[in-house]
Amino acid sequence: MRITVLGKSPAWQDADGACSGYLVEGGGKIVLLDCGPGVFAKLRRFVDYVDVDAVVISHLHADHILDLVPFASGLRYAPRQQPVPVAGFPGTDDPARPRLFAPPGALEAFAGLCAASGMTADHIEIAFEVTVYDPADRVELGGLTARFQPVPHFIAANAVELAEDGARLTFSSDCGPNEELCTFARDTDLLLIEATLPRPERDGERGHLTPAEAGEHGARAGARRLVLTHFSDELDADWAREEAGRAFGRPVDAAHEGASYQVGG
Ligand SMILES: [Zn+2]
Ligand SMILES: [Zn+2]
Repeated sequence: MRITVLGKSPAWQDADGACSGYLVEGGGKIVLLDCGPGVFAKLRRFVDYVDVDAVVISHLHADHILDLVPFASGLRYAPRQQPVPVAGFPGTDDPARPRLFAPPGALEAFAGLCAASGMTADHIEIAFEVTVYDPADRVELGGLTARFQPVPHFIAANAVELAEDGARLTFSSDCGPNEELCTFARDTDLLLIEATLPRPERDGERGHLTPAEAGEHGARAGARRLVLTHFSDELDADWAREEAGRAFGRPVDAAHEGASYQVGG
């Protein structure tokens, strides 16, 4: 299984960057994990979007879903996706319709997003075969198995595990400090973990982690490898790596666009 970082920005993009989006190839499948603003363009550098088998969404914040709108437009309006031949494009009787696994509340969120931006409310549901997952579900995608773990955030959010033949990739989603992620990610091969904050939120609910907290979570989980993500280019990545590495007990990576990690075999 291989994961490629398409976008690692937090809720606002880095210069020339993209928000949350990771390409996972394994088990004979091509999976997009999250689809934030800017991700569709980055995805197209690596794979043809009609070849994506499934999109898995961790939570319904804008920085994790907004590019589902242009992705759906490509699937619906690209000439090669049309059943009726158009000059220069033969069309197809079998247009691509990737699966889309999204958390509870997704249908209402997608309908509102599409309707509010001038599309029909069912724009995403037409383009994708949408399944609203229960976080207790286990989803089989060819040779990949997806599992979910609710984690504390400002809205319902789920850490996501993708596994193939015992090799495990765990993505924290966005989360504040918690024990559930550590248990869920126990002994994982690669923990891709958010490290959004230069310092903990000053007041109110915790919804994100600092790099040091991300390192602590990785250590508590016993993760074999730790990769920080969801941090701004306005945060010093070397400082983040040092902070996290000190807490993790050994070096960690900081995600950057185009970085690719092999997980297992
Ligand atoms: Zn986010
Ligand atoms: Zn979020």
